[in-house]
Amino acid sequence: MPLHPLIGHRTARERLAQAVQGNRLPQVLLLSGAAGVGKQRLALWLAQLVLCEKKGKEPCGTCRPCHLVAGLSHPDVHWLVPIPRPKASDLDKQVEEAAQAIAQVMEERRAEPLYQPADGMASHSLASVRLLQRRAALTSVEGGPRVFIIGEADRLIAQESSQEAANALLKVLEEPPAGSLFLLTTVEARRLLPTMRSRAAPLRLGRLTDADVSGFLQAHLRPALPAQELGRRVSLAEGSIGCALNAADEAGKAQQAAQQWLEAVLAGPGPSLERALRQPPWSARGEFTAMLDAVTETLGEAARSTLGQPVRRPVPQALLRYRDPGRLLRAMEHVADAREAAWGNVNPQILLAVLSEDLAEVL
Ligand SMILES: [Zn+2]
Repeated sequence: MPLHPLIGHRTARERLAQAVQGNRLPQVLLLSGAAGVGKQRLALWLAQLVLCEKKGKEPCGTCRPCHLVAGLSHPDVHWLVPIPRPKASDLDKQVEEAAQAIAQVMEERRAEPLYQPADGMASHSLASVRLLQRRAALTSVEGGPRVFIIGEADRLIAQESSQEAANALLKVLEEPPAGSLFLLTTVEARRLLPTMRSRAAPLRLGRLTDADVSGFLQAHLRPALPAQELGRRVSLAEGSIGCALNAADEAGKAQQAAQQWLEAVLAGPGPSLERALRQPPWSARGEFTAMLDAVTETLGEAARSTLGQPVRRPVPQALLRYRDPGRLLRAMEHVADAREAAWGNVNPQILLAVLSEDLAEVL
């Protein structure tokens, strides 16, 4: 099954096409933007554009290279995705394991292009970077440009105790081989090491319009959603096709955690403290801040409902009984403070316990 069409990002596409035509496309690009807006899809579009035989402002979609890229089988397009950490003890064997794991992901994406986000523990280990280095050292199979896409590049550091993987990747990015293009993607550019960021030209991708998300779901989601569910998904997705596709994705999980935690806070100090301490250690800081964001959104939704607006996401019943938004807005301020503190080196459990108390006072 070929890739679904790229949706939106018209300004970015135009800028990239102009750069390609003017022969001034940077060799290393960092695409950043919210999860599920199509960063890796745009990277594949750019791969198609530089390899397309027609050399237009958009890939023609019909020539051989275009077909190969869309089928994820172009020999000069290498898409590195986060994978479970290889288990072999020897690095050479780990590289083989990484190559096989990535090949398998590609096989799955060929069969089902609307893929789920990578598992939270998947990463780019040193083995993946060595694999990239080896492939980068080879010559072009088709004689044209070569494109290396590193999806979720920030997952390089998080689970790598040594600096080796980062240093190895830096080396490649410092002196990219002639005729090669490196496209890194990340939700937030600041999650990458400054040394790595400084090697890449940044390109920030915005959220899609609701009309784009809705149009995509209608065209590609089978079975089709009933109109009401479609509207709800589009509104919750906030311009992210990835979010809209996967109701049980990160945003969904964060939303659920936020809902449960707010209910515990409303149930009194005992349950909320117990809930905060029962919270397993967060596997990633991103998950914790995502939950705080979901708490803010839920409180905001409750505040809107006091003004007679329809409720678009699950909100604890107790919050829907409020007559004026004042207390809810004060609660949102407390969450905003906690959100800021979460960037520092703070224990999320303690932060949550303190926030429970603050919220219990105002709600
Ligand atoms: Zn083409």
